[in-house]
Amino acid sequence: MSNIESPKRAIINFTKKCALSCEWCYVPFGSQSISKELLSSVVKRLRDLGFDSVTFGGGDPFQFKHLDFIIKEAKEIGLFVHVDTHAITLLENQKNAGLLESYVDLLGLPLDGSTGEVHDRMRGSTGHYELIMSRLNWLRDRSISIKINTIISSINVSDLKELGKLMSSLSPNRWSIYQYWPVGPARKAASENALDVNQFRENISVINLKEFNNTVIEVNTAESRRKTYPILNHLGEVYVHHEYPVDDFEFVGQIFDTNISDKISVLCGQERREVVARYIATDKRVN
Ligand code: SF4
Repeated sequence: MSNIESPKRAIINFTKKCALSCEWCYVPFGSQSISKELLSSVVKRLRDLGFDSVTFGGGDPFQFKHLDFIIKEAKEIGLFVHVDTHAITLLENQKNAGLLESYVDLLGLPLDGSTGEVHDRMRGSTGHYELIMSRLNWLRDRSISIKINTIISSINVSDLKELGKLMSSLSPNRWSIYQYWPVGPARKAASENALDVNQFRENISVINLKEFNNTVIEVNTAESRRKTYPILNHLGEVYVHHEYPVDDFEFVGQIFDTNISDKISVLCGQERREVVARYIATDKRVN
């Protein structure tokens, strides 16, 4: 890529479907089928363009039957492989354990509340909290780096202190806390979920950092994420968070376009401060 500040990571969202329907989901779902061959080409293209990390994200990657092939290929061509999953289709079997241990550098799981009541309300799915607890138990003591993702909105913000206690006992490798961001399809949830950035920061401060020994905590305000990394869908269409209007995505082009690298460089700029300095476990600071 021509710009040394160009992003080095990209997200590929599987935008065909998802087993959950979180009301604040930002993924614009369509009906296009997922092609193993096309997805493989998209991943290779990212590597050729100079990206060194890929995140496979929602809708759920494990709903795609060729995910293991794609993950192995991404790893074998030298990409850092990060997979975010709601874990419903991440079945607890030896095949998946082997795949994760051998080919996935970071596995992201959602947890948005300290109880089933809070988490399941956020995810719109009764029993999902129990499922996540089961998966975390299954993953415990395996050689897999776990990142727990928490969306904070006005609905669960008052639970942060209790969630912090739970998280310290779960002790994942990383805990990423995201302010709800009404962007794209997530706008429809704004009336119930909107959370001012100052309110978000104030409530983050109730987390008792002394309870954490081995977990890196990463705090992400909504706006800090704007135009810092490209978001692809499984067809290879590239988007970024739009500058204006502020609550939508901007279509950049197709990942195979000859000028896509320059376009991404111009639009995305450099990685955000929270991510450059995101791993704060050693000094216990929260950004
Ligand atoms: S936020 Fe994730 S799990 Fe929820 S509906 Fe969107 S893609 Fe699915």
